[in-house]
Amino acid sequence: MWSLPALRWEPCEADPSELAAAEREAATGAEFDKHGLKAKIWAGYKDGTVKLICKRLPGLARVVAFLPEGVKEPNWDFWARVFQWFGPAKDPWKVIWFAARAPREFPDPGQDLGPEHVNGGYTTVCSTDGIFIYREEEATRVLIHEMLHAACLDEKGSQWTIPLKEAMIEMWAELVLIALKSRGQTQAAKRLWVKQSHWVSDTNEKAREEHNENDDTDYAWRYLSGRAHMYAEYGIILPAPRQIEKRSLRFTHPDLDA
Ligand SMILES: [Zn+2]
Repeated sequence: MWSLPALRWEPCEADPSELAAAEREAATGAEFDKHGLKAKIWAGYKDGTVKLICKRLPGLARVVAFLPEGVKEPNWDFWARVFQWFGPAKDPWKVIWFAARAPREFPDPGQDLGPEHVNGGYTTVCSTDGIFIYREEEATRVLIHEMLHAACLDEKGSQWTIPLKEAMIEMWAELVLIALKSRGQTQAAKRLWVKQSHWVSDTNEKAREEHNENDDTDYAWRYLSGRAHMYAEYGIILPAPRQIEKRSLRFTHPDLDA
């Protein structure tokens, strides 16, 4: 994969339909984006404090990124590899990224985990209409997660409830991220897996112990303990959780950032 020639991004202008989509999405979806992160970014764009960058990989992808001051552009080389790994879709992949600075954090003990604590993007399954990402943190992991949905890779069959489908997609998103991040080098992948497998166990443990996340009827299970459930289905045993103080509710170890 990394031995293939690197694709070259070209600058572009966000077209009116993309801006209309961004405006529309900023005004909707408040049941998931409870802190109104998209709306804040859109308001910043309108008043000139959030800059817009548009880049495209001809025939493959377009990215419209709304970046508040101090938020870095995505790792374009890495994102090109993500699109290259998925390959061309019927229409170019379209991504709109509201890069809100809102790290995922555990709330106070006892509180349930809701979409506002964990979600950061969405798309339509089996569609290249658009992938919307609304946090700076873990944007690449979210990009891969949403592309798996958009690429129609959700499990099919009535036994696959939404939480189970989400858990499977999230497991694969993290594995694909490790594969790309390690550039196919086995030792690097192993090192990242050790870090990530501990991260999953530790995060899930805190979610269970302090935030009532026990089974697939609890909202965050689909992204947290659901992963461990899917690994177990594949016969992969995660390490025991460690007794550590943890505030971050990122899904992946920081070394997996692109
Ligand atoms: Zn999902």
